[in-house]
Amino acid sequence: MKYEWLLFDLDNTLLNFNVSEHYALAQALQTVDVIFNESHLKIYEKINRQCWEDFETGELPQAEINNLRFSRFLTALNLPNEDATQLGDYYLEQLSEKAVFMEGGQALLEEQHEKYQLGIITNGLKQVQRPKLIKSGLVDYFEIIVVSDEIGISKPQPAIFEHAFEKMNFPAKEKVLMIGDSLHSDIQGGINYGVDTCWYNFKDNENNSPIKPTYEINHLAALKTLGII
Ligand SMILES: [Mg+2]
Repeated sequence: MKYEWLLFDLDNTLLNFNVSEHYALAQALQTVDVIFNESHLKIYEKINRQCWEDFETGELPQAEINNLRFSRFLTALNLPNEDATQLGDYYLEQLSEKAVFMEGGQALLEEQHEKYQLGIITNGLKQVQRPKLIKSGLVDYFEIIVVSDEIGISKPQPAIFEHAFEKMNFPAKEKVLMIGDSLHSDIQGGINYGVDTCWYNFKDNENNSPIKPTYEINHLAALKTLGII
């Protein structure tokens, strides 16, 4: 066996974040008497993306993202936005309510958790990620779980991998594989730290970036069928 440790990203790698997001948005909008539809989703996605970009360029503190995106979202829906904080808090609460596996995710963990040591490194809020990890039953499969919000460091920074490696008792880097759907955070993060990487490209996107993963798969079952693990 080439690897001893498999490190996974969480959202859109093991669990389907899009399903959770749609559910939480629908629940949140219901509190302001709006029936959620696809056009709301498009508006929200655009606002959300802009907020995260502003965070990444340092213009917006992470703690303000949730409030601001819901304030803008309500405004875009021609609704009063003084309840944005309350709506945002409710959204985050609902975000951990529905945890659905990505296709093949549960089977993979079931098959591999006795053969490999498993870990999760996720960029996310502890108030969302921790309940989701418990509700999905994922906690039972993993030796280590690192949530960026809990340590104030996120992927692709090498320091989050260093933190994980400390919990793993510093295995040899060549014995560790990082698997995730984001070239920017998961694959770049793995490369920065010096471990092999597997890009879970479930959308079959073209990779026009300079970020080159060690492996690429479009289904989790391919980890096994391609002989990566
Ligand atoms: Mg992800």
